[in-house]
Amino acid sequence: MCGIFGIYRHSEAANLAVHGLYALQHRGQESAGVATCDGSHLHLVKGMGLVSEVFGNRDLSDLPGDSSIGHVRYSTSGSSHVRNAGPILATTQHGEMALAHNGNLVNGLGLHEELEKQGAIFATTTDSEVILHLFARSSQADPVDALVDSLLRLKGAFSLVMLMGNSLVAVRDPWGFRPLVLGDLAGSPVLASETCALDLLKADYVREIRPGEVLIISENGVRSLFPFPKIAQVPCIFEYVYFARPDSDLFGRVVFPVRVAMGRKLARERPVEADAVVPVPDSGVPAAIGYSEESGIPLLWGLIRNHYVGRTFIAPRQSVRDMSARLKLNPVRYLLQGKRVVLVDDSLVRGTTSRKIVRLVREAGASEVHLRLSSPPIVNPCVYGIDTPERSELVAANMDLASICAFVEADSIGYLSPEGMHEAAGLRMGQACHACMGGEYPVRWTEPKGAQRLLFEKTHR
Ligand code: AMP
Repeated sequence: MCGIFGIYRHSEAANLAVHGLYALQHRGQESAGVATCDGSHLHLVKGMGLVSEVFGNRDLSDLPGDSSIGHVRYSTSGSSHVRNAGPILATTQHGEMALAHNGNLVNGLGLHEELEKQGAIFATTTDSEVILHLFARSSQADPVDALVDSLLRLKGAFSLVMLMGNSLVAVRDPWGFRPLVLGDLAGSPVLASETCALDLLKADYVREIRPGEVLIISENGVRSLFPFPKIAQVPCIFEYVYFARPDSDLFGRVVFPVRVAMGRKLARERPVEADAVVPVPDSGVPAAIGYSEESGIPLLWGLIRNHYVGRTFIAPRQSVRDMSARLKLNPVRYLLQGKRVVLVDDSLVRGTTSRKIVRLVREAGASEVHLRLSSPPIVNPCVYGIDTPERSELVAANMDLASICAFVEADSIGYLSPEGMHEAAGLRMGQACHACMGGEYPVRWTEPKGAQRLLFEKTHR
């Protein structure tokens, strides 16, 4: 779970990268970093925290140059350390390289061990660094050939932006798991995980980087290679459900109306007699709008979110534990009193947050609380870069529907079907990855889901 950005030949390259990262902050809050190229050297600033914490008070004079890439990283347990923050920079026989990676390799641990046996010294515990090592070791003389050589060894999810010498390079894995788009800011090419970053810069949206595409932007212009064997594309459907920003144009469709359509389908598939549809903000809002439109049940803003809690939240002591849900969400008693409520959220993971929210709504006077989820049950961990817990912690992997309903203390519970979810996104079954919801894992994997954690533990014995 990361956000990546790049811009080529713009006098404000560092500044625009920081701004782009602000727009992509939802994709990662653990660390932020920007690398620039001044024509002869690469420069890098990165740190732990939000973009505002790392760059808010910097004048950016230590990031000279007219090309840049940026990275925001999401916290995955065990590897929260500044050395793992992106971008990662290295000097190789092919020149200097800076790399920002979104996604997760499923053969990262194996490649790491193979490279270590050959004498590689790793500076981070990320799978992204494996790509740099493969690049550095390639016997191909031309840097682009060396890059392709290394990319062909990778399995899993990798959307990449790179500064390579004086070139800006974009790569999307052949499965197309994670998004990456190309924009244009008055002649300067821009790359970003999501179009919301282009909107902020007032850059024009040109197109998606295609699955399997290697796009090289250099003094000689823009050229594309398609070095991977042709395979079925499977973009991550959870990006539509939860992860991407609703104002982004993702995989060719704007996210907001897709989520509204999911809510409409949910209302048709899982109707209930009620007085109010209440969204769990912010993730449940578009689906709740759809549910309300389709069912004719009025939408009420019965939960108000405090946007300033964020990462600063510290687990409370037992005595104040009850406050944890209220700190983020406050029920509007005036709206909820005596109402039969349909509570709409996008997904149920552990079920623990939802249980607290159901309680909040009931304590605020709702006479009934019916939980509706605009995605199918999450029953498997994601190995392609979304931070879902192990099966043992996924409520739907361990309980039947009635038990989940009892666990979250709702009067009824209803999930959207996999077919309904795909239709809402304009996709047929098999055209997207929904392995976390019981679909097939499109890329075989043998390494444990916590491979990155294992790497970390190995190097911190
Ligand atoms: P819970 O009730 O504990 O299962 O939490 C469900 C909430 O977590 C929903 O509001 C989802 O929007 C949100 N959610 C889903 N996936 C993730 C994720 N990978 N990271 C953080 N939050 C998530």
